[in-house]
Amino acid sequence: MLRPLHWNRPGRFLLAFVLAVVAVVCPIHLLAVESSAKKPFFEERPMVVIDPGHGGSDEGAAGPSGSREKDVVLRLAEQVAVLLEDRFQVELTRTGDYGMDLPQRTGTANRYPAALFLSLHTAASQAPHVSGVFFYYHRPIASVAAVTSKKTEITAWENLQDRHREQSRRLAQELARQWKTRFPGDEVTVAGHPLPVLEGADMPAVLVEAGTLTHAADELRLADMEHLKTVAAVLAEGVASFLKAGGAAP
Ligand SMILES: [Zn+2]
Repeated sequence: MLRPLHWNRPGRFLLAFVLAVVAVVCPIHLLAVESSAKKPFFEERPMVVIDPGHGGSDEGAAGPSGSREKDVVLRLAEQVAVLLEDRFQVELTRTGDYGMDLPQRTGTANRYPAALFLSLHTAASQAPHVSGVFFYYHRPIASVAAVTSKKTEITAWENLQDRHREQSRRLAQELARQWKTRFPGDEVTVAGHPLPVLEGADMPAVLVEAGTLTHAADELRLADMEHLKTVAAVLAEGVASFLKAGGAAP
């Protein structure tokens, strides 16, 4: 009876040799292909964390007709998420009507870690005629110097945003640019302020006030779902163009 190849000594040796070569060479070859082929940007799907401000007993600003900031910004955040989901991983800090403290919100972004953090709000004013849209980045009070422990090299929570400040400012400018293109009649402001919700964010981060809820016409616009969808499109485009231009690199 003719014995199969792997039963005779030279055949067994040859088979073992071939299997060893295949086992060693193939994974290395595959790895080489994997690492040398740079994925297109959007295949990497960076994480974007969107933070609808307020929630629960903290209702935020109130409009003259009764709109509440916490509801408006949650609806807006959901729309922004829908528009970004095909290109990015998206996470909301809050998905319902409940309260959260500020470090919890920023902590969500740091834990992933996110490439970008966007906190959504509406502005309020004592003067009912005041209207406007604001893009804020975190700028600490000048007298507070950045504190980094020399022993541990760990940056204090309240200083984490400092190293991203320039990028956050550019993100705010890009969002404002997109806004002015879509809504040329709006008063749009970009400014740096001490912002507790952003100070601990370890990535480019901006707080958006997407209209002034205490202004009657702004409240009407913000109550209109079609307007909110357009605002969401503006914010999504700003985020996408910033990240595509490499804004996520520290
Ligand atoms: Zn707010």
